[in-house]
Parts: sequence; structure tokens; C-alpha cells
Amino acid sequence: MKNFMFITASISLAMASSLVTAEDTLPLKAVNRANEVIDAALEAYGGSEVIAELNSVTRKSHFTTWATNQSRSPGPPWDENEQMSFGAIDFENKTFVGKNKGSGGGSEFNGSQIIKAEEGWQISYRGGTVTPIAEPSFDTTSGPFIRVTAPLLVKQLQDRRQTSHWLGEVVLDGRPHDVITLVMEVGPGLSLYFDQKTHLLSRSERVLPPFGQVDYRFLDYATVEGIPFSKTFKLFVNGEPNLHIDILSTEVNQPIEQYAVLPTNLEMVEAAPPAPTEVGLQEISEGVFLAGAGGTYALFVEMDEHVIAVGGTAGIPDRIKAIREVIEDKPIKYGVMTHHHSDHIPGVRAYQAEGATVLTVKENEAVMRAAATDADSLKLQFVKDRHVFDGGSRKLEIIDIGPTPHVEHLLVAWLPEEGILFEADHFQNPTNGRMQPAQATTKRLAEAIDELGLKVKTIVGAHSPRIASIDDLRRSLALAPAEVAQTSP
Ligand SMILES: [Zn+2]
Repeated sequence: MKNFMFITASISLAMASSLVTAEDTLPLKAVNRANEVIDAALEAYGGSEVIAELNSVTRKSHFTTWATNQSRSPGPPWDENEQMSFGAIDFENKTFVGKNKGSGGGSEFNGSQIIKAEEGWQISYRGGTVTPIAEPSFDTTSGPFIRVTAPLLVKQLQDRRQTSHWLGEVVLDGRPHDVITLVMEVGPGLSLYFDQKTHLLSRSERVLPPFGQVDYRFLDYATVEGIPFSKTFKLFVNGEPNLHIDILSTEVNQPIEQYAVLPTNLEMVEAAPPAPTEVGLQEISEGVFLAGAGGTYALFVEMDEHVIAVGGTAGIPDRIKAIREVIEDKPIKYGVMTHHHSDHIPGVRAYQAEGATVLTVKENEAVMRAAATDADSLKLQFVKDRHVFDGGSRKLEIIDIGPTPHVEHLLVAWLPEEGILFEADHFQNPTNGRMQPAQATTKRLAEAIDELGLKVKTIVGAHSPRIASIDDLRRSLALAPAEVAQTSP
């Protein structure tokens, strides 16, 4: 039974109750025991009939979030943000409505997603737009709501019994628990901890690379229409608090159509074409390449003797491979990290493997070393305000425009001759070129451009394949957030 220790190091295993005999094989025992746990849970949640007939749930909640490795500073305490959230699900009609309003990382958001069977829409109340979703998926969109709603996880167990195995017994908060698995339609498998006395769900876990272990806690149960719902929910990432939900209201088996009505006072716009899935190379100017796919892009600048890479988002090795096809003989000598956020530092390893020196600010040294394959041998160079690469025939400037509402230090790349600026996380640049009302981050970027007197013609970024013009930035600044009536509470 020792192999069940992997569940979690922080929880001690209860004594294994009996030895496994040849007839009672481990897989068989795992399936049978899971079925017993599921049956007991169904009873505790109002009975299998009640759970089978639990068709719709509507919940309003208040979220407190902690921006782990995504705060303005490179270390804890992490920035705390708040948001209001609304979710409504109807299984029979495959309808889901999810709405979030709040702010974080220097951006405000106020939008919703509506899925009605085969159709789906993304609504931006801030932008005043409704956009059809290209490939709507009830399972994918409703997954996060189900994962934080205990009776809906039990309903999943009822429907997907065959995916469940018993993993073992553990003591959690001084109480013995059975741990069983659940594989939902979409996403990695969950381990669910059921209290052996109350048969209620106390905890669930899943492993989400590259973030690590995500741990969900279900607390303060109260009964709604005969079904126990937890009123408090806490989520930890690698043991650190990440999300705390206070449920403000719960309704069961009420119609939810009224929330799924498309607002008529918003502009219906076409969906942005999806970003390419294969790594592509765009030569923005001679020897200046934007390389990337999906939601992550990096800039490669060819100097006389070497190449300088800017940006450290996911997939840098593939982007280097692509650049090698057009620049075969020059080494990548520098890799510039725009900022310390976890999604902008995977590139450290790739640049280290190339033998490159990583450019960052002194304040981010620890984060960069921790992201390296070998912390001690990582070659670092620190930028103080500005570093100029003068490669003879080309000039590339790395400028710290921080502090910004997003981070204390933000390195942007500036090519003065070409008028090209590369930035990360401060300018939204949708693939359809439809600008959104500028966030505080974008306003700060525009301010910095003015203060530094940069004659920007072209803006490219870490999250878009689109080559924007300075007019796009101006258009975004000129747009005010829409103020419109909303259909969901
Ligand atoms: Zn960021």
C-alpha cells in the first residue's frame, strides 16, 4: 500500500486495514471500494435520485484571489484581488452562464460566457461586444464551476462511476477519509477526499503542469433543498492560497434561461480568427522576426555577429528552431526576459541551453535563477533603466518602463531605426485588430512612449501574432469602457 503515499506528503496514511489476497486483486478492490464510497456519498448528498434530478444550479459568489508568481513584486506577499462571480448550469439543456467582474494585474474585466448546447458567445460588458465562440464546449466551459461545487462533483461520480478508483485512506484534519479518483470529460483526473463519517467531500486535488499541485477545500456545508453545498471554498496552489470563494447565494432546479439571453444593447462582432497553431516566423523588418504560435511570441533580432532574443514565454525551444532555419550561423548571445511572471520565464532554460546571457533587472535575479536548469551557472546581466546593444549596423535598446500597474519592472525592446517596439502584457492586440478600451497597463505604456520620446511605428507583443501600428494604440486609448445594462446578476 506504500505506493499510495504519493497522494500527498502532508497527510499521514491511516493503517492499511487488511492485506490483499490473490482473489481480491488490487484493481478489483480499487473499483469496488470506489463504488462503496460513491454510494455513501450519494446518500449523504440527498440520495441518488435527488442527485440524478439535480439539473440546474445557480450560484453567486465573491472571490478573493492571490496572484501567485503573477504579482507586481517578484516574491510574496502576493497581490490580493477581488471579483464577483456568477455561474448557472443546466445539464439537460447543456446551458452554462459564467460571469466575472473584477480587476487584477492592472486590468479590469467585466464579461461573461454563455454556452447553449452547440452555440456559445463571449460577452465583454467592458468592451460593449458579443462575440460568437468558434468551438463552444459545454464541458470545457462549465468545468471550473463543477470543480468548485461539491454536489456537482458527486453528480459527475454518479454519471462517470467507471472512471473512479479507490486510492487509499488518509487522515485529513484529524479525520479519516477515503480518496477516490474522478476523470471528467475534460481536464486532468481529480482525487476526491470523502470524510468516512459524514461522507461529504472535504478536498479534491489535481496536478496541473507547469503550475504544480492544485488543492481544493470544501468547507462550511449548509443544506439547500435537501442537498449539502459547501458555502466556503479554498484553493491552494503548491500549498499557497490562490483563491477563496464565499458563496453568497445558491439556487437549485430553477430555470436559468433568463441568464442565457444575449444582450441586445451590445454590438455583435465576428470572432477573431484563431492564432496559428504551428510556430510561424514573421519578418517585421529586415533581420527582425516575431516567432511564435497560439498565445506566445518572442522577438529575434539579428545583429552583426549574433542574435538577441526578447521574451521568455512557453515554447522558446521551438521558436529557436524556427529562427535557426533563417539564421543558421549566428549564436543567440542574449535572451531578454520582459518580466518575472511565471508565464514569461520558461524561456530562461532555453536561453541557458543556448549558452546565452539572460538579461533581467537585479530585483528579479532570484526568480530567474530558480527558473534555470542550473541556478548557479546561469549567466545574468542586469539592466538598470536602459541597456543599448549597438551591433554596428543595428541598434537595439532594452528599456525598463516600470513601475507599471502590472509589474515593478518591465523590460521592453526598442529598435529606434525601425520604430519597432516589443512589449509583454501591456497592450491587448486581438488577432482581428479590433481594439479594446485601454487598460491602466496600456495607458502606462503609452505614457512611457511619450516620456521617452520613442517614435513608435509598430508594436508587437508576447501574446499576439498581430503586427499593430501606433494608430492601434491610439485607437485603444480613445475607447471608453462601455456602460451597458446586464442580463446576469
Ligand atoms: Zn505579466
